Parts: sequence; C-alpha cells; structure tokens
Amino acid sequence: MAAGGTASVRPRLQKLQACVGSVGAVSETGTCDSCGDVQVEVARVHRAYVTPEAWDTEEKVEVLDEVEHWCFPCRTSYPHEALE
Ligand SMILES: [Zn+2]
Repeated sequence: MAAGGTASVRPRLQKLQACVGSVGAVSETGTCDSCGDVQVEVARVHRAYVTPEAWDTEEKVEVLDEVEHWCFPCRTSYPHEALE
C-alpha cells in the first residue's frame, strides 16, 4: 500500500510580508532630519519657522519648500506642515 503524499506545508511568511509592505505607504522607518534619531518612524514634512508676535512685529510663519523626515516627538514639538 502506497503511503499518502506528504501534506504540503505552504510558507505563510510570504503572505505576512505582503501585509507589512502595504503599511509602508503611510509612514516609513528612517532617520529623523530634525533630532537625528535613527530607526524611527518618520513622516514627510515641511519645516516651518514661526516668529512670535512682538510689540513691533506681527506673528510670521515661514514654511520651507524643502521636504524633511521627522519622527513623532519632533512633529509634536516643532512647527511644521505635514505632507500627504
Ligand atoms: Zn526627531
């Protein structure tokens, strides 16, 4: 009597990796351009410089054209404009 064929074990890793890859569109891991932290989740932003209002000047917000990658703590601490 012949033995039954060995049950095929399908690698499930491929499916898992495919799921992880699709998340990359939202955020990415890299180096923060603001604080220099490495291997952190970063998002693309435009740095903004805010000049506080003073007795002789109005408040001024200057947004740079340059795209930088910032980690979450920096995005909560410093003025910036987020990119989609
Ligand atoms: Zn940072």
